[in-house]
Amino acid sequence: MPIHQAFLRDMQVAFNLSRTQIVTLFKDIRDKPNDYGVIDNAPPHASFPSVVERIETLLGMNSIFPNGAALTVSYQGTNFEFETPFDLVGWILSVTGHIPEDVTTANYYYPLVILYCQWCRTLCAREKKEAKMVQITWYTQGGTKRVCLGSSLDRPKGERKEIARTRRFNMLSRDRLALGYERHLPYSGDGGQPIGHCAETFPILFIKSLGEEVTLPDARGIAVKPLEALNAGMPNKFDVPDTETLRKDLLEDPCDNCEVVLLR
Ligand SMILES: [Zn+2]
Repeated sequence: MPIHQAFLRDMQVAFNLSRTQIVTLFKDIRDKPNDYGVIDNAPPHASFPSVVERIETLLGMNSIFPNGAALTVSYQGTNFEFETPFDLVGWILSVTGHIPEDVTTANYYYPLVILYCQWCRTLCAREKKEAKMVQITWYTQGGTKRVCLGSSLDRPKGERKEIARTRRFNMLSRDRLALGYERHLPYSGDGGQPIGHCAETFPILFIKSLGEEVTLPDARGIAVKPLEALNAGMPNKFDVPDTETLRKDLLEDPCDNCEVVLLR
């Protein structure tokens, strides 16, 4: 079954899946990638088993970071190094599913990023960790609609996070999206997070890796704050925030770092 049907038809059911059920779903996608519309390209199919295995390993730990090396995973033939379960779940949602022609922000992209928030929360509940920001970007690749999802590195702050941030910076640098002297330079005013921290990092790296197949100015995205968007007081979590106050509370404009990086 194309995964979008599961999302659209039974979004609430998908939202309420338990930790075990989410992992079982990921294993089913791993075993039947064509049934779920995993991108028809050998490298993502080859990466799926190690992604699911790493998610299970990380869920058995008390940290969102691995003890050892990051996991090398392919996005359509280009390798990236992933650290957290948030990155790995974002990758699964980025390579899985056929997106219908008539989707909108309201009926697909926003609900999907909310589902991503919830699955990350459910999977990592025991660690009581949650990203402060997640992001979804949508675009067209050779006539096919695609999405890329990613998250920031919060929380926790600390040494391990900085190692992961530096790894992300090196990937941005490899693609000339960040320059050497910016390694420790925050353009951002709020919190002063250096480049590589942002939720936009993997979406932009994935899209950049596709080169001229994608027209970047046509890509669109939303950054969402999971803590606020999943707040128990929010009655309809899948509804796009429709007031200025709600938008301010739940969404975030590209930060000063992204204003520099995204234009490259
Ligand atoms: Zn940013």
